[in-house]
Amino acid sequence: MFDPTVLETFLALVEIDSPSGEEAAIAADLVTRLKALGCDAWTDAHGNVVGRRAGRGAGASLPPLLLSAHMDTVVPGHGVKAHVADGIVRSDGSTILGADDKAGLTAILVALARTGNDGEASRPVELALTIQEETGLTGAKLMDHRQFEAREAIVIDSAGPVGAIVGQGPAQESLVVEIQGTASHAGVAPEAGVSAIVVAARAINGMRLGRIDATTTANLGTIQGGMATNIVPPTVVIRGEARGIYPSALASQVAHMRERFEAAAAEAGATVDITVTRSYDAIDLDEGTPLVQLVQRAMRSVDVAPQMITTGGGSDANVMAGRGFTVANLGFGVVGPHALDEHIAVADLNRIADVVTAILGDLG
Ligand SMILES: [Zn+2]
Repeated sequence: MFDPTVLETFLALVEIDSPSGEEAAIAADLVTRLKALGCDAWTDAHGNVVGRRAGRGAGASLPPLLLSAHMDTVVPGHGVKAHVADGIVRSDGSTILGADDKAGLTAILVALARTGNDGEASRPVELALTIQEETGLTGAKLMDHRQFEAREAIVIDSAGPVGAIVGQGPAQESLVVEIQGTASHAGVAPEAGVSAIVVAARAINGMRLGRIDATTTANLGTIQGGMATNIVPPTVVIRGEARGIYPSALASQVAHMRERFEAAAAEAGATVDITVTRSYDAIDLDEGTPLVQLVQRAMRSVDVAPQMITTGGGSDANVMAGRGFTVANLGFGVVGPHALDEHIAVADLNRIADVVTAILGDLG
């Protein structure tokens, strides 16, 4: 349905600056709005907004559903001025719009407003509105998820169309590789040196990178090293990543990268120190799970066609999946997220709000 409060709410949120690390103002605004909607709401020790609201009527005895979206935006995100023309909301072109993820926040607020009336049945909800998603899922990682009773979560932060449900998304391993060779004067005693740059080159030459298979990718993103042209370079630091949905394929890719560096270092008489850190876990959602059934049923009830999608990106949903939640991350129709021409249709703002409303009103 077309509801003018959806666009009003969205425009109010996009005009509150919230680049990553500067979420205090929008957090305060959201806490005020949530309290007015009958929620208990507060900011946690890290600046995330957390809350809950009891269910209504026949929904009161159901387990709560955790609703999540992130409060921060990428940059440039100061002084966003939104314009609506031909049913599309855009910035003035000098900033991002911030529909990622303020469309998600809007859908949650509107759904709570529509389901808050006494006498109507709705599910209990818990809320996790995070800081610094865009800079490494930081707010979600810092959040204490043990405070939630919910075991099922709805995240509204996929770049897919309204109707998209992320069925699969990769885990990510981050690699830091430090190659230690031996410095020497390049003109006087080159044979006494071991070039860390040459070791890196030999390791990378022949390494499987890019798209490894349909669900596994790998990249070396930065390389730093060397001191001057007349010094055999003693140190190189390389930072990279591997992503994969399936643990064994991801593990074998990481092992391959590790082996290439170790073999090249050993051959040259250098040493290598490799640190692998799990950045976030995979999403591998069974279409038959009750949560997916619920979301699909709710979508159909508001004439939205559900579709399961696969993503190569990570979001707060991956952190929650890694902490044991069954998580459905929903698309909301944003076009060009993180770009100056980011935009979203008013109709899609309404449709995702309708979907979240239907989810809260679906008692199974
Ligand atoms: Zn986002």
